[in-house]
Amino acid sequence: MRATSAHLIDYVEFWTQSKVVKPEEPVEKGVGADVVDLLRDHGIQPSAQRVAVAKYVLRTDEHPSADQVWHNVRSGFPMLSRATVYNTLNLFVEKGLLREFILAEGRLVYDPKTDPHHHFIDEGTGKIHDVPWEAVQVSDVAKLPGFAVRDYQVVMRGQKLPSS
Ligand SMILES: [Zn+2]
Repeated sequence: MRATSAHLIDYVEFWTQSKVVKPEEPVEKGVGADVVDLLRDHGIQPSAQRVAVAKYVLRTDEHPSADQVWHNVRSGFPMLSRATVYNTLNLFVEKGLLREFILAEGRLVYDPKTDPHHHFIDEGTGKIHDVPWEAVQVSDVAKLPGFAVRDYQVVMRGQKLPSS
C-alpha cells in the first residue's frame, strides 16, 4: 500500500515536470534568482515547481497550510499538482528552510521564519501573528522533570487590538 502511493506520487511529479519544465525556461532570471540560490545552498535541485512554491512560501508571513500554499501558487502555475506541493513543503522542512507546526486540531501550517518566536492567533480572523521571542518569558522549561525539551513555543489566542 505504502509502496503503491509512493510510486503514484513519483509518477505525478514526473508527469508535471515533463509537462511544465522546458530546458529554455528562464527559471534563474529576475526575481527568482535569489530563491534558486537559496534552494541550491540547501541542497535542493531548483525545479520550476519548487522555485514557484519557494517564491510564495518562503516570503509569506501568513503561516499557510499546505492547501493554502497550493491554491496560492497554482494561480500562476496551473499544472502544479497537490502532491508536488506536499512533497516540496516536506523537502523544505527537511532541509531547514521552513518550520511546520500544528496550531489547532488538524491544522498544520508552514512558517519560513525559522528562528525562535511565538505565535498569537486572532480568534476573530484566524490570522496568525508572529510574536518576538523576547516578548514572552517561559521559565524553567529546561528543568521540567522527566522531559528532555528540544523545542517549545507559546501559542496565544485572543483578539488583536486595532493598532493605534
Ligand atoms: Zn511565525
